[in-house]
Amino acid sequence: MTISDDDTAVVLDQSEALDGSAAAGAFSAALGVDAATIEIVCAGCGYQAPLAEERAYLEGPGTTLRCRRCATVIGRVATTPAGTWLSLSGSRSWRLPPSAAT
Ligand SMILES: [Zn+2]
Repeated sequence: MTISDDDTAVVLDQSEALDGSAAAGAFSAALGVDAATIEIVCAGCGYQAPLAEERAYLEGPGTTLRCRRCATVIGRVATTPAGTWLSLSGSRSWRLPPSAAT
C-alpha cells in the first residue's frame, strides 16, 4: 500500500483522530477476536500498545489505525461487496489474544 500525499496531511493533523477503541469493532469483525486488546508493534518507531490506545480514523474508505506516537498507518480494514480488506503493512506485529475457551 502506498502512502499518498493525502495521508501525509492527515499525519500532520491528529485532531481528527478518535480513540483506538472506536476502530475495535471493525477489526474485531474482520479478525474474529476482541481486537481492543491486540498488542500492536509499530514498524515505524517500534512503539507497542493495545489497539484501543492507538489512533483511529473513521473517515474512510474503511477504518484506519495509526500509531499514537509517530502516526504511521499500522492497520486498515474496509468492507466492500467483494469482501473485507485488511492491511497491516505499517506494523511489525499484531499479538492476538488467546482464543477464549468456551
Ligand atoms: Zn510508531
